[in-house]
Order: sequence, then structure tokens, then C-alpha cells
Amino acid sequence: MGLLSNRVERHEIKPGDHIYTYRAVFTYSHHGIFVGGSKVVHFRPERNLKSMTETSSNWDDPTSNPCPTFPDCGFRQPNCGVVLSCLDCFLRNGSLYCFEYEVSPSVFLSRIRGGTCTTASADPPETVIHRAMYLLQNGFGNYNVFQNNCEDFALYCKTGLLIQDKQGVGRSGQASSVIGAPLAAMITSPLKLLMPSPVGVATVTAGMYCMSRYATDIGVRSDVIKVPVEDLAVNLGWTCQEEEIAEHETSDRQITTR
Ligand SMILES: [Zn+2]
Repeated sequence: MGLLSNRVERHEIKPGDHIYTYRAVFTYSHHGIFVGGSKVVHFRPERNLKSMTETSSNWDDPTSNPCPTFPDCGFRQPNCGVVLSCLDCFLRNGSLYCFEYEVSPSVFLSRIRGGTCTTASADPPETVIHRAMYLLQNGFGNYNVFQNNCEDFALYCKTGLLIQDKQGVGRSGQASSVIGAPLAAMITSPLKLLMPSPVGVATVTAGMYCMSRYATDIGVRSDVIKVPVEDLAVNLGWTCQEEEIAEHETSDRQITTR
């Protein structure tokens, strides 16, 4: 893994790794958990799919364009945003990146782009894969960039950490990139008088952006709680659909006894 980029090759990733790729020419990143056997479990918007500017629709929707590699590629429970895809469909010719855990605060702050690393520590790969597979069966709530986006899904699988505040900003870097904009607006008020040059303004803006990102990192927040994956659906009312509650018991047992 390079010092300035998390770019990795396919043979370098291990089951349980949090991987991501950039979609729509670097405007947003898509995150998932590599579960081994060229398979990725990831979370994507379910209802907003048509409104998104997706040009190719074959990445995880086998009904529109069947995956040539794996027959079960694109598997998901009805009305669930958690999808199992093969690595090819997940990447869609994009580059592969590996999300970093337990980075030092200085490394974290040196990253210009949010959503590439965290100071939080990751759990063992078996635990990470168990969470991902469990959520594949049981869902991860409704997709929302501020609360439950694909990065949050992967972060949760890796750490088991959830932010308690339901009204708060998103816990992930993508969401805090969005709240960076109001900070830039804030700088035009009194602080502007203290800054003689445009360079100074830019530096302070970037600094405040980084600090806001740091403050929302799950590794440093004090309002995060560790939630066992089995309790997620119960605690937060996250279920795919009511009819499936009866099936939870069966699928749980299948996973744990495997
Ligand atoms: Zn595929």
C-alpha cells in the first residue's frame, strides 16, 4: 500500500478487508467488504437507483444484465440494500483501494480526501465477514448518505461501531465532505479580517475542514457504541420486510453453524 494512496492490487486484498472504488469519475466512492472467493458484500441505494446517473447497470442487477462470472452475483434479499457481488461487478473497471484502519491522527489529517482511512481499530476478519454476511441476510436500514451509506456499512462491519445520535451528521468521510461546505461559508465572516492573503484563507479553510473530518471520525468520537450485529435489526428497527422476521432465526443458525 502506497504512502499517499490506498491503491492495491487484487492479489493483495484479504477476506475481511474494507475495499472501495471511485464511481462517476472520482465524484464519489463506493465501499464494500471483501469476503473472499472474489465476492464483495456492499450496500447501495435501493429505491434511488433509477434516479442516479448510472450509465452501466450490470454491476449488481442480474435481471438487467446477468453477470458472466458468477450465477449468484447480485444476490440480495427482497427490498434490501445489501448486495453480494463479484469483484468485477463491484469495481466496474474502476481501480481497487483498501480502506485503512488504526491510522495515527497525523496521517488521518494529512489525507485531503475524506473516506479513505480512520483512526478506529478493526475487528478480526472472521468477525467482519460474519457481520457482512449477517447484514446481507437482514439488511442495513434505508440508504441515506448522511446516516447509512455504503461507507457506513463497511465501517460498521469492520468495527461494530455505531453513532448513537440519530440526528447527527453521518459517521463517514463522504458525509463529512458534504458538511465541509458550510464551514467554507463560515470563514467569510469575522475570521476573514485576520487573514491578509487568499492563501491564508485557503489554509485555514482546509484546516477547519480536516478538523471537522477528524471530529466526525468514529475512532475519536465519544458517542459511538459497539453494537453486536445480531442486535442491529432489533435495536434500530432495521429489517428488510416484516415477512422476513420469521426467517431471521433460520438464516442466523445457518451462518453460525457454518
Ligand atoms: Zn458479477
